[in-house]
This record gives sequence, C-alpha cells and structure tokens, in this order.
Amino acid sequence: MRRIRGDRPEDRVVGQGDRALHEAIFLSRFTPHVTMLGTHASDFSTSTRRAAGERGILIHHTLDRLSPAADGCTAMLQDGTTCRFDAVYAALGCKVRSQLALGLGARCCAEGYVTVDEHQQSSVDGMYAIGDVVKALNQIAVAFGQAAIAASHAHRELTA
Ligand SMILES: Cc1cc2nc3c(=O)[nH]c(=O)nc-3n(C[C@H](O)[C@H](O)[C@H](O)COP(=O)(O)OP(=O)(O)OC[C@H]3O[C@@H](n4cnc5c(N)ncnc54)[C@H](O)[C@@H]3O)c2cc1C
Repeated sequence: MRRIRGDRPEDRVVGQGDRALHEAIFLSRFTPHVTMLGTHASDFSTSTRRAAGERGILIHHTLDRLSPAADGCTAMLQDGTTCRFDAVYAALGCKVRSQLALGLGARCCAEGYVTVDEHQQSSVDGMYAIGDVVKALNQIAVAFGQAAIAASHAHRELTA
C-alpha cells in the first residue's frame, strides 16, 4: 500500500456519481480540498469531470473500500493505493419511501414526497408526515422541527 501522489490529509470525500458534484461544490466553499470517489469511470460524466476540474475538485473513480481511521478515513483504491481523508460524506441520492402514506390515501407529489400543509398535516385528516418523507432539507434538525410542529398541532386538535 502506498499513499497516492498529491494525497492531502485534509481532503474531504464525497460519495459517487454525478449527483456528488452538487455536494462537492457545496463542500468546496468550506475547504479547497475536496475529492469525489466513485467505483467506475462511468460514475462521472464528462461534464461532471469538467465542472469538478474547473473548481479544483479531484476525482478518483476506482474506489475499492473505505475504512475508518483514528484521524479520519482511509480509502483504498482498486490498484492498492490508499488516501486518507478527514471526513467522508455519502452523496448517493435518496429514494422516497412513502408507500405506507400513499396506501393510506395521502397525496404525494410527483417525486413521491407526502404533501403536507403548514402544520405537517397530510391530505388525510389526522395524519401527519415529517422528515425525509416530506420534501425539505433531509436533515435531522429539520425532521425534529417538523415533528414538533406536527405534535403541537395534533395536541391542539385533540384538545380543541
Ligand atoms: C449516510 C447518511 C448520512 C447522513 N448524515 C446526516 C448528518 O450528518 N446530519 C443530518 O442532520 N442528517 C443526516 N442525514 C439525514 C438524516 O439521517 C435524515 O434526514 C433523518 O434521519 C430523517 O429522519 P426520518 O425520521 O424522516 O427518517 P429515518 O431516520 O430514515 O427513519 C425512518 C424509520 O422508519 C422505518 N420505516 C420505514 N418504512 C417502514 C415501514 N413500512 N414500517 C415500519 N418502519 C418503517 C425505517 O426503518 C426507519 O427506522 C444522513 C443520512 C444518511 C443516509
């Protein structure tokens, strides 16, 4: 195993695929050292490679495996070389799993997210939706906030 040429220990890594570019550009506002990792050359289109190159974002498309290290994460490439990163972010996209809500008759948007009002209430009376099943920023703090809004409204409705 050897460190790859130009390996910078402070690098950040972003998942795989073209969708990773958006995330990588976001991260590049916080650090000039961002690398995108994929497992096949086809993970990154020509336009993605060009856009990444223009922003100084490196690409390795031969990721074999990632392992946690005491001070970050080690990526081993398919040829046995290794690189160390401070942090790794998965940018694999997400699949909306709203089948349960859909099955109960809740209205969903074309992308599959449950449609809610300002109280997080779905189109089914008394059924609320929060978190990743609702179209918003997919973050824990958002899910918690939405849960608080839904719980407060449900409480008010029950005690009205
Ligand atoms: C790799 C990764 C890294 C992330 N990092 C961050 C981060 O650093 N900070 C941050 O804020 N957010 C992060 N997120 C996003 C965050 O995890 C989500 O936004 C948050 O967990 C959404 O909460 P939720 O309750 O909507 O969904 P979930 O946490 O996914 O909970 C849904 C639960 O419902 C269960 N479930 C689904 N369908 C059924 C069913 N039919 N029957 C019974 N149970 C079911 C699931 O098993 C799951 O336990 C990350 C997400 C991923 C995938």
